[in-house]
Amino acid sequence: MNIKNIAIVGGTHGNEYTGIYLIKRMQRTQFQAKWNGLEIALMIGNPRAYEQCSRFVDTDLNRAFKNEDLLNIELPGYEANRAKVINQAIGPKGSSRTELIIDMHTTTANMGVTIILVNDHPYNFQLAAYIKHKLPNCFIYYTSAKSYTGEADHPFLNSIAPYGFLLEVGPIANGIVRHDILEQTSMAIGAALEFVSKTNTGECPMPTNSLEVYEHVRTVAFPIDAADNINGFIHRELQDSDYQPLQKGDPIFETIEGDTICFADEGVFYPVFINEAAYYYKKIAFSLTQKRVMKIKNTL
Ligand SMILES: [Zn+2]
Repeated sequence: MNIKNIAIVGGTHGNEYTGIYLIKRMQRTQFQAKWNGLEIALMIGNPRAYEQCSRFVDTDLNRAFKNEDLLNIELPGYEANRAKVINQAIGPKGSSRTELIIDMHTTTANMGVTIILVNDHPYNFQLAAYIKHKLPNCFIYYTSAKSYTGEADHPFLNSIAPYGFLLEVGPIANGIVRHDILEQTSMAIGAALEFVSKTNTGECPMPTNSLEVYEHVRTVAFPIDAADNINGFIHRELQDSDYQPLQKGDPIFETIEGDTICFADEGVFYPVFINEAAYYYKKIAFSLTQKRVMKIKNTL
């Protein structure tokens, strides 16, 4: 494997400042020079939303990268157009000159450092295993197009290129920067680029032959009242319990009236994005994953 062309993106969501600040730091400190042999494009994903300190202007940019949407020139809104500009700059999706993309995000959920993979290419799992070796507390979350949307084509910016990952770090409020979160994000990127550099020069840094992966199953909606408004909140026992096992009978919500709602599905799930601020407008309370241990083959 020889990967040369990399894109690092921050601010795909305009109110997630950590990635934007890191892009600015990289631009101002000759970051590229530290990574000899790699061509690294640095980009702020949604500059107009950043100006407004909002997640997006018209629609979520990180759901705008399905092929049919990239090809549809009549699709209205700033992000539909911005996705095409990004696709032209670092893509085009399917035959992109950029081989690997790191898209930096933050979350209000207690997810620590989470590496999100959008396809099952072995290189991506090897890369994730290396980052996990360097940052032992990080989590690997796999969300295929099929599991995420039920369709074959992924809507994330990451889907432009075959390799790379979406980085989700939290908990942090939207519209602020925290030194610790910024540093964790920076360390994950450093580990990723170290892996790419090493594999490019023929070193095969495979620290493990198995990897714990949390695979996306589905989202869970908040309880809704007769007027279609959210009628409750995350139960204290679920709050901050991202990646902790959840099973039938565990409390997940308390309604406005004060009733407890418990989880009703059979089996053991691992919730993530618990109480994510960005999903309230979609009435999504959290997502469910299942844990599995993957064999990692050294194909480098
Ligand atoms: Zn985001």
